[in-house]
Amino acid sequence: MVGVVTCGEDISSSEHAISLATPRPMVAVAVGIHPHRAASCDGAALSRLRELAKERTVVAIGEIGLDFSGRSAPRDLQAHAFRSQLDLAAELDLPVVVHVRDAGAEARALVASAAVVRGQVHCYSEGPEAVAEWASLGFHLSFAGTLTFERSDRLRQALRRVPEERLLFETDAPYLAPSPHRGRRNEPAFIVATVAAAARERACDAAGLAERSVANARALFGTRIAV
Ligand SMILES: [Zn+2]
Repeated sequence: MVGVVTCGEDISSSEHAISLATPRPMVAVAVGIHPHRAASCDGAALSRLRELAKERTVVAIGEIGLDFSGRSAPRDLQAHAFRSQLDLAAELDLPVVVHVRDAGAEARALVASAAVVRGQVHCYSEGPEAVAEWASLGFHLSFAGTLTFERSDRLRQALRRVPEERLLFETDAPYLAPSPHRGRRNEPAFIVATVAAAARERACDAAGLAERSVANARALFGTRIAV
């Protein structure tokens, strides 16, 4: 284990993540308002986020994005929160961690119209055809335990198409524990199972792939991600 990026989903969880990371050099933070919490993204929240983003542990704005699965906030509120936080990331020259569910085309349109040119699509869930589109927007694609699930053939096809320098892995803990840990509370150590599955799929060496993904994370999030 060399480092962790932990994400906020609103102001209070972003503050909590910073207090967790401050005494722990291996933990870096993304601060942001998740699409589920889009209704809370008003002017006061955005100015608090601007302050939080200047803390030394903060490496990104996230999770932000769009979730059109039907279990999230109204779409217009989500779009407003996403656009406002993309603008904030551009202003502060920070990468973004983007949550996208059933809203790939809409999310890419907002990203393309913003000044931000780099970020991570977290827990990638689209098919192989969207990989090149995200890559052309300057984004890294991050794969979670879903990659190891039996039904995830399209996700594995997508994985094979990701340029090596754009590939990241994540746990999305405490959710989505990879096989063979499925059903348990996910934790950072389980990332090894996801990387091993990815290495099998890409017919490459797992240790080399792990090293490459750490280098990619450092390229995106900076040197707080230790080597
Ligand atoms: Zn998410």
